[in-house]
Amino acid sequence: MMNLTDMKTVKSLLAKHGFHFSKKLGQNFLIDPSVCPRIAELGNAAPGYGVLEIGPGIGTLTQQLALHAERVTSVELDQRLLPILQETVGEFDNLHVLHGDILDFDIPKLLAQEFPGLRVAVCANLPYYITTPILMHLLESGAPVDTITVMVQKEVAEKLQAKVGTRDSGAITVAVNYYGTAELLFPVQRDSFLPPPNVDSAVLQIRVEQRYAHLTDNPTHFFAMVKQGFSQRRKTLVNALSATMHYEKSRLIGVLRELELPETVRMENLTMEQLIALSNRLCQVDAGESN
Ligand code: SAM
Repeated sequence: MMNLTDMKTVKSLLAKHGFHFSKKLGQNFLIDPSVCPRIAELGNAAPGYGVLEIGPGIGTLTQQLALHAERVTSVELDQRLLPILQETVGEFDNLHVLHGDILDFDIPKLLAQEFPGLRVAVCANLPYYITTPILMHLLESGAPVDTITVMVQKEVAEKLQAKVGTRDSGAITVAVNYYGTAELLFPVQRDSFLPPPNVDSAVLQIRVEQRYAHLTDNPTHFFAMVKQGFSQRRKTLVNALSATMHYEKSRLIGVLRELELPETVRMENLTMEQLIALSNRLCQVDAGESN
């Protein structure tokens, strides 16, 4: 197996293929020998598991996943990396490399095709420019995934694992909590990558579990309300939702009173249960059942 954490080997491989990093595609490849084995181990790359990898790059994490998981499917957008991957990980017969944009894939269909009869985990060193869209694409798809273990920008990891109802939380914190539980696993130094990114990184794991879906009358309204409320987070919820969702202020104040919440409350002050109760009540108001 080619040693993809050896700088000399990697540089000569890239030179041989005339490869130049694309900043636009978030290409920072892992070269620290300790990081990929840890992601694979903590990320459920194990017998009985199919692992979906997003953005294999030159295959450093892919090697560790293919060594330990039953099957691995890696989706890479940059066509220039396909011949390199053929050379670095072509030897694994439990690995399937697909070319494309992960956002274009129907995730439940892909997983059913690739991993019949297996439990599923997602592992990735994500391209940072689309961290949130990728996580939302995976979570909203409702695909039967046990864990999503991803390298992300450290700031994003902190936001994702913040407690809902605190100042550190945001719309993405609420979304992740809706679909599971996030835990920061370990920080990763900038010099663990080639080229080093301008930001600190961390590996985060989301354990996927449906804790709130059955409580939510209208998930589309819930997510729209959370997005609008956080888009004007310095405003009170009454001001934010009257401006963005066109509710009358007096209606909003009435609903807050029913839920025993103060008029001055902001979106960032509400717990998951309070946010869901608010959305459910506003949907009833929309349906004309307010009286
Ligand atoms: N996994 C490799 C590693 O750890 O060394 C590479 C990680 S690099 C941060 C991100 C990878 O995602 C790059 O190979 C990039 O080309 C790929 N990528 C970027 N956008 C993508 C997309 N929309 N779908 C699939 N892969 C994408």
